[in-house]
Amino acid sequence: MLMHEAAVPPFMKNGFVLACERTHEAVLIDPGDEVDELLDVIDRKRFDLKHILLTHAHVDHVTGVARAKRHANVPVHLHRDDLFLYDNAVQHGALFGLDVEQPPPIDRFYDGSVITFGDYTVSVHHTPGHCPGGVCLAVSRTSSPPQERAAPDLFVGDTLFAGSIGRTDLPGGNYEQLMRSITKVLFAFGDEAAVYSGHGKETTIGRERRTNPFVLEWLARHSTS
Ligand SMILES: [Zn+2]
Ligand SMILES: [Zn+2]
Repeated sequence: MLMHEAAVPPFMKNGFVLACERTHEAVLIDPGDEVDELLDVIDRKRFDLKHILLTHAHVDHVTGVARAKRHANVPVHLHRDDLFLYDNAVQHGALFGLDVEQPPPIDRFYDGSVITFGDYTVSVHHTPGHCPGGVCLAVSRTSSPPQERAAPDLFVGDTLFAGSIGRTDLPGGNYEQLMRSITKVLFAFGDEAAVYSGHGKETTIGRERRTNPFVLEWLARHSTS
């Protein structure tokens, strides 16, 4: 898989272009203020953008959706439970003193069906806690036989970070729910799975399971079963 990642101030939020090396079909994940760099990569490498996928709808993750949609008229996907955040992106931006462009209407709400680009499949897993409609996008090769199947790449939004966890003090946040999403949903992908967070550097499920202080503290309190 081909991947390009970018982040710019003030939010330093990671946006991603993922593309199939064979077909050049691509998806764009969480286009924010860095969207021009990502669209430039798509143009220069002649990628064929198929979908705009959102891990959640906090303002830093959606400020580039309008520009991306104008650039390539492809469907924008979001979990339905984050629509209230998406619809208020302009007002949330104003709280930070930012002039945010109204994002276009959501085309598709995640409904459990997989999304494909070239030889890759994206499966969508609901991981509420940081916000009600947070999801993990698990990306893997479509057709490899089970014994050859590598661990997926996980695009987790702001649910889990290298050495930290998502905040739960924003509207709709819930700490217990977040920790269940991390330890039950994300950890089920196995220690080898790579984790690409909404902010900061990449990590793995194994590293966070063993060393993340927030995870260790929660597991210690829930280790009776
Ligand atoms: Zn967020
Ligand atoms: Zn964020």
